[in-house]
Amino acid sequence: MIDAVSKAFFHALAGSRHLKSLASRYGMRDAHSFARRFIAGESVEEAIAAGREVEAAGMLQTLDYLGESVASMAEADVATRAYLRVVDAIAAAGIGRNISLKLTQLGLDVDRATCVDNLRRILDAGQTHEFFVRIDMEGSAVTSVTLDIFETMWQLGYRNVGVVLQSYLTRSLDDVKRMNQLGARVRLVKGAYKEPRSVALQSKADVDAAFVSLMELLLAEGTYPAIATHDPAMIEATKTFAASRAIGRDRFEFQMLYGIRRDLQTALTREGFRVRVYVPFGREWFPYFMRRLGERPANAGFVLKSLLSER
Ligand SMILES: Cc1cc2nc3c(=O)[nH]c(=O)nc-3n(C[C@H](O)[C@H](O)[C@H](O)COP(=O)(O)OP(=O)(O)OC[C@H]3O[C@@H](n4cnc5c(N)ncnc54)[C@H](O)[C@@H]3O)c2cc1C
Repeated sequence: MIDAVSKAFFHALAGSRHLKSLASRYGMRDAHSFARRFIAGESVEEAIAAGREVEAAGMLQTLDYLGESVASMAEADVATRAYLRVVDAIAAAGIGRNISLKLTQLGLDVDRATCVDNLRRILDAGQTHEFFVRIDMEGSAVTSVTLDIFETMWQLGYRNVGVVLQSYLTRSLDDVKRMNQLGARVRLVKGAYKEPRSVALQSKADVDAAFVSLMELLLAEGTYPAIATHDPAMIEATKTFAASRAIGRDRFEFQMLYGIRRDLQTALTREGFRVRVYVPFGREWFPYFMRRLGERPANAGFVLKSLLSER
């Protein structure tokens, strides 16, 4: 219940222009500003430096150039070009070639065909440089179309691409089964958006139970799934299931967000598990940042403290 209220509260705040402009002014101003806890920086150079640090600590990374819900084809084109530059910069830097992106950043809300073209431009560049491209999952209004586009790419022969499924959605069991049949790589998450009862489980206990069932199906029958969570209970369940089925540590990976539960990231790496850190960067960090606050209202305390001391 508190989960739902907190998500709704921060979702509403995320729509506030005043808050956005205040946050943008102070959030990334210097190395100690509050948004830096979750965002690697505004430039690709800062993101690559963060990616290098992650790799130096024995982990893998995926870079996410932040942005979502663009409102015009011109903006979608700008975002696509920016992603193409990110692909080049990562390839030149020599760090792991893995990116995450959102289809509404490429124009999904504006024009589906343009979004598909933009995605193909990125997948083609990615194929040339041997990148893996993860399509993040957004709110339930775009779940079906996101999966449709993914499956179209798959039918066109792209294999350097994967999707995300959310355990809070009641439809996800069918989606996991379909993705397993395709042989597609799935990142499993609990889900970060505020969703209605008609499509999503509402209590933490139910979302967790669904996460465990889907994780087991992915590990048993899927293709190199990513189990993306900071929840020690979910991580334990994954380790236990993998051990009971003798599923090797090279057949799946854990994923966590930059700046969250670094202790767990390090501990799992030391135990010999693969851990990939999702490293977000860019100027459009506000909605991503607000979702992180919504997941853990205690995070708002340090933001407030930092804002008061900066002003
Ligand atoms: C790599 C990665 C990619 C993701 N991609 C997507 C996506 O494409 N679509 C989508 O809807 N969601 C995505 N998410 C977010 C996900 O859906 C959850 O909202 C988020 O991971 C919190 O859930 P949890 O599994 O960590 O468990 P929770 O039950 O929410 O948290 C368990 C514990 O983790 C820690 N924790 C969790 N969140 C925070 C936080 N914000 N700050 C500090 N501590 C925290 C706390 O210790 C908490 O007790 C992604 C998450 C990860 C790790």
